[in-house]
Amino acid sequence: MMFAPITVQLYCDNYPVKVHLISTGAVAVKTKFRENRHQGIRAMLSFLFDKNFTDWMPVYVLIIEHREGIFIFDAGEITAVNDKDYFKSSGFIANWFDTTQFKFSITKEEELIEQLHHLNISKEKVAAIVLTHLHFDHTDGIRYFGDTKIIVNKDEWERPFGDLPKLYPAWFKPVQVDFDQQYDVFEKAYCLTESKDIILVETPGHTYHHSSVVIKTDETTLFFAADICYSQQQLNENKFPGNNTDNRVAQNTYNTVKKFAQKNKLVFIPSHDATARERLQQLFALY
Ligand SMILES: [Zn+2]
Repeated sequence: MMFAPITVQLYCDNYPVKVHLISTGAVAVKTKFRENRHQGIRAMLSFLFDKNFTDWMPVYVLIIEHREGIFIFDAGEITAVNDKDYFKSSGFIANWFDTTQFKFSITKEEELIEQLHHLNISKEKVAAIVLTHLHFDHTDGIRYFGDTKIIVNKDEWERPFGDLPKLYPAWFKPVQVDFDQQYDVFEKAYCLTESKDIILVETPGHTYHHSSVVIKTDETTLFFAADICYSQQQLNENKFPGNNTDNRVAQNTYNTVKKFAQKNKLVFIPSHDATARERLQQLFALY
């Protein structure tokens, strides 16, 4: 296993909360896909012809054992992605793109369903899986959860960006939730728990209606950023990935997150940032 799982014991309002950060295998992308000075077609041309891949990065899934239930954020990757024909059903271009621009490494034991088993969490006990956005490295793992409630931002579902619906299981029909609340500096939010300590916030840029997750614990605030950036360093340096919908929107999201971080002790956890594990373990805050 390239990225070892980690469990941290915290409290929400004096109730114990267990936080597990697991990686469902590893991914590498073109270096100019991870970071690019340009956007749109110029960025695309530069990463398509880029010969260099990044180091292996995690594909994190966050599992929260909360008193209101077990919540899972993103479903991660599965071994089927190793199949050379995995993307064929999505058409020639998607097949070419996804087999040449990304590399995956995942074993059966790294899949979400296997790691849940290892954590002694039966899938019947899972209250919901929340998808931050609809990219396949965040959704593929749902195929083992046909009887589990799966939640997605209604706007992300209605206007996805770069999803591959052909990869969805036939039964997939997520519960679409309205982000119709304001939360702190975030204009669009959805409160997941009655106790109002787990909040989904819209953080657009990577997709039109990408979301991140705020978990307020007694010790600190966890921020599962998903794909707003590839790393905390990228956020700090104010640099952008090469595949955003619009960097002005992404910039606005960076600004909002930084504003939120200045007010809160924030442990920042992007989906593909290997250094997030250490920050979670030590509860190192962004500021
Ligand atoms: Zn991703």
